[in-house]
Amino acid sequence: MLHFPEPFKIKMVEPIRKTSKGERLSILKKASYNLFLIPAEDIFIDFLSDSGTSAMSDSQWAGLMQGDESYAGSKSFYRLEQAVRDIFGFRHFIPTHQGRAAEHILFSTVLRPGDIVPNNTHFDTTRANVELQDAIALDLVEEKAFKPEYIHPFKGNMDLEKLEKTIQEKGPEKIPLCMITVTNNSVGGQPVSIKNIRASKEVLSRYGIPLFVDACRYAENCFFIKEREQGYKDKSVLDIAKELFSYADGATMSAKKDGLVNIGGFLALNSDEIFEKVKQKLILIEGFLTYGGLAGRDLEAMARGLYEALDEDYLAHRIGQVRYLGERLIRGGVTIIQPPGGHAIFIDAKSFLPHIPQKDLPAQALVAELYLEGGLRTSEIGTVMFGKKDATGAVIYPELELVRLAVPRRVYTNNHLDYVAQVIRQVYERREEIRGLRIISESPTLRHFTARFEPLEAAAAAGNK
Ligand SMILES: *Cc1c(COP(=O)(O)O)cnc(C)c1O
Repeated sequence: MLHFPEPFKIKMVEPIRKTSKGERLSILKKASYNLFLIPAEDIFIDFLSDSGTSAMSDSQWAGLMQGDESYAGSKSFYRLEQAVRDIFGFRHFIPTHQGRAAEHILFSTVLRPGDIVPNNTHFDTTRANVELQDAIALDLVEEKAFKPEYIHPFKGNMDLEKLEKTIQEKGPEKIPLCMITVTNNSVGGQPVSIKNIRASKEVLSRYGIPLFVDACRYAENCFFIKEREQGYKDKSVLDIAKELFSYADGATMSAKKDGLVNIGGFLALNSDEIFEKVKQKLILIEGFLTYGGLAGRDLEAMARGLYEALDEDYLAHRIGQVRYLGERLIRGGVTIIQPPGGHAIFIDAKSFLPHIPQKDLPAQALVAELYLEGGLRTSEIGTVMFGKKDATGAVIYPELELVRLAVPRRVYTNNHLDYVAQVIRQVYERREEIRGLRIISESPTLRHFTARFEPLEAAAAAGNK
């Protein structure tokens, strides 16, 4: 097949600075081996997040100039409303400044202490917002999601048996809503099939429980459906999206992902009763109904971005690019979560650095080494992020030690990806030299953002105190 290049050309450039290895070593030491503490200026390729890091199009930038900044009834709001109605089809919607604000407004309205929210897998902020209401966030993804090298087209699916069992055991009155996250971010950006969403809805309908979609990466999910699910290859991604949302009663959205904007989100739903309540809350904590925590120009960029993210040439490039990077790593012998997801590649750090025990933080050590080798910024999803302590202070280790390479949308070319693959392969060649890290300071919650580390040799030199 003919190799297909990026379906856009570049009109504006943002220089990135390549540093020397010596510079990077001193930058890394200064940041105590925590890449969150490195200024972006000192990063060459930034794969920290795909959230809010997209490149906007010429049309979106033009939209910023046309954004209507009226306090009430902005033209840009109506254009966004049109886009949301057209694609998502729900009766009501409110704009929010990002996804977690939509989550907070929804959950603080519908949940009561002790309630249960099933999800295929909760994203961190979704879980935190459920727990903030003293409710319980349950992850019911199918077991195959936990086998890194197991290949399945829809590894993000909800486990229907677990779902039904949960409802029967806990009682439907304890479950004000169920959520499905597309793509399933926390298990590697793995898609959910239409069949699974339809079947989940059937189970929920029997018990009168509404279904909400965590829709952040719905366009990527719908592209996977077109590629992989029987009966969908001749449907447009827009029509697939419409079908997907037709099974739901509402959705929360972070437009910082598949809205192709740097800030923005919304909550959309059908229930008149819930809408009346969330409207009041929006005014209280975000802003008036027709701007909700955003400038008119942001609403305009979001309205345009939502359509652009459904463009199938763009999606083929987008999904293809992540897959391209994954294939190059596999070819170099690196173990990754299979198959590559929609927005990121996850390297299995345990098999990359088998000589580093989990207590010496192999995934964090690899993140630091990739920066040192080539100025890459990636993120640790392992013991630093998820390690917990039991009552005796002993560490409970997570199952997986992963390094995430989240690819921003429309930002890097395949040349950049070739460079990234090369850097990782070079580090892989000399992996035996890499040593673990230890934590020298940490905060009690969300420690990965601020923890400080030092390499183990240094600790040994200082008398292993
Ligand atoms: C990013 C994300 C959110 C939260 O959105 P923000 O815009 O970051 O607040 C919720 N769910 C999923 C699956 C996400 O990826």
